[in-house]
Amino acid sequence: MEIKNEKELNEKLAALGDMDDKTRNDIVCSLLGHSLIQESCFGYFICSRCGAQLGDSLGGYYDATKVVIVGHDCDTCRSNYEKLDWKHKVFTPNPFALKSYNVKITEILEKIVTVEAADEDEACKIVKEDWVESKLVLDADDFSEVKYTVLNHMN
Ligand SMILES: [Zn+2]
Ligand SMILES: [Zn+2]
Repeated sequence: MEIKNEKELNEKLAALGDMDDKTRNDIVCSLLGHSLIQESCFGYFICSRCGAQLGDSLGGYYDATKVVIVGHDCDTCRSNYEKLDWKHKVFTPNPFALKSYNVKITEILEKIVTVEAADEDEACKIVKEDWVESKLVLDADDFSEVKYTVLNHMN
């Protein structure tokens, strides 16, 4: 019997009783087929609903032209998504959801000071002591460089 809409699917699932999300998603894929909303991982395409590996773009036999890749958000994925019916969207993640990123900002302050000393070691020692005692303080005027580093993303 073909399942015509999300309501029929949910009724069918409810009749099967309690199950975890993974089991439910496996059943949904066996009833509806795999979703075209897929994860792309090292050239493999993976159903974003059940996690099954569906194809290998490197092998060349997998037609990914209709696929929406989770997190991709390009024009092709956007227009492919428009064409998908409910069967592909039920129990799958929003492929265009924004993620949270931790980005570290590193600012470097630099200043050149002139000191009288016998040698390099003594010069460094004098400057270091002056800095520790806050006789030398670097501020925004001494700004030299800024770096941004993405540490990780959540979800
Ligand atoms: Zn699947
Ligand atoms: Zn894309």
